[in-house]
Amino acid sequence: MTKSFLEAQIAADYTHIWHPYSAMHSELPVYHVDSANGVHLHLSDGRKLIDGMSSWWCTIHGYNHPLLNAALKAQLGRMAHVMFGGLTHDAAIGLVEKLVTLTPAALQSVFLSDSGSVAVEVALKMAIQYWNAKGQPQKQRFATLRNGYHGDTLGAMSVCDPITGMHSLFNSVLTQQYYVERPNCRYGETCTDSDIQALEKMLQQNHAEIAALILEPIVQGAGGMYFYSAEYLARARELCDHYQVLLIADEIATGFGRSGKLFACEHAAITPDIMCLGKALTGGYMSLAATLTTTEISQGIDQGNPGVFMHGPTFMGNPLACVVALASIELLIKSDWQRNVQAIERQLNSLLAPCRELPQVAEVRCLGAIGVIEMKQPVEMATIVPRLVDAGIWVRPFGKLVYLMPPFIISESELEQLCTALVDVVSQETTG
Ligand SMILES: *Cc1c(COP(=O)(O)O)cnc(C)c1O
Repeated sequence: MTKSFLEAQIAADYTHIWHPYSAMHSELPVYHVDSANGVHLHLSDGRKLIDGMSSWWCTIHGYNHPLLNAALKAQLGRMAHVMFGGLTHDAAIGLVEKLVTLTPAALQSVFLSDSGSVAVEVALKMAIQYWNAKGQPQKQRFATLRNGYHGDTLGAMSVCDPITGMHSLFNSVLTQQYYVERPNCRYGETCTDSDIQALEKMLQQNHAEIAALILEPIVQGAGGMYFYSAEYLARARELCDHYQVLLIADEIATGFGRSGKLFACEHAAITPDIMCLGKALTGGYMSLAATLTTTEISQGIDQGNPGVFMHGPTFMGNPLACVVALASIELLIKSDWQRNVQAIERQLNSLLAPCRELPQVAEVRCLGAIGVIEMKQPVEMATIVPRLVDAGIWVRPFGKLVYLMPPFIISESELEQLCTALVDVVSQETTG
């Protein structure tokens, strides 16, 4: 690509295209990617970056994987898409059979959709329809943890953190839900009575109108990159049972090994009533999500009014997305992913540790293939991102959080390069 063509392309992007959470007429740089392979992004200006983001939790096997490419090509020769109303196909059946064997045994009914936010909407609607069918139509509200993130559509937004989710801006359309402080007890710690008290009190007072508690198990992602006690999750499960509130585990970020377990619910050995999957589901190849629930709930919905589950996306069960998801899951299961993730965790722990001494850093924490540097002040995106790119790495901080979640296939030397460059850039940040 010539320099002038590249410049014209980027200018066209600036003129017409929105990026996630961005201004249309933004001054912030946008980098043009030509291709990607393994853990590398190849920019069109010739630079090569080590990817520290896995394209937001997704590309666990890296980019351009021959097996995933082959799965897609094979399906393309059969059919790229077919409507899912009244029709079915091997791609969806194969994927769903795999999902129900890997997730907790009670989860046997699966709804496929196109993105994480939709999977969350589906979960919320399942909970409402279930209670309606059980003669409890007043159970229409949701409980959730502050600092949570569950997606960008209106229903999902209503269960996001009210501050970072900008609820005041959307006041009249967002349902007021029940928000509880995030758990104080960290991952690895016990959960005391006082740690669970806020949740217990809220459920005790409001359970009659609460359909479900929705949370991100163990790892709160986009709302704070925060790891909390497995015992808190276990106690939350007990409270939900006690107060007749369903538990929705949003595993969209944590699913498929990121936290060190295949699903983060395994840290607490719990079975949610509803589980949402997305992001790494297709290894980052295509947009696909799934909402899983128990036979008890799917049967309950069937027996209620109107006797069907009220949702049906146009691209539901897209065959290309389903085959690449199955191929990605098989690749993961066959690999020594647990050892890889443990090795990444050890290396993140040791290589990010020096940041703890920096005056501009508040905390460093790692879990599984996630390493987080929490700064004392929000970083300046306009200056830090170009520095990271100049250092040869792709990392996209938000607010006070500078974090890594590399593909599981990253080598020891690549991860060392990634961490070293990051620590170097972070140490040059002003103390604010
Ligand atoms: C990303 C994310 C979502 C939303 O998924 P989209 O595919 O962006 O709609 C929901 N929940 C969690 C926990 C997420 O990390």
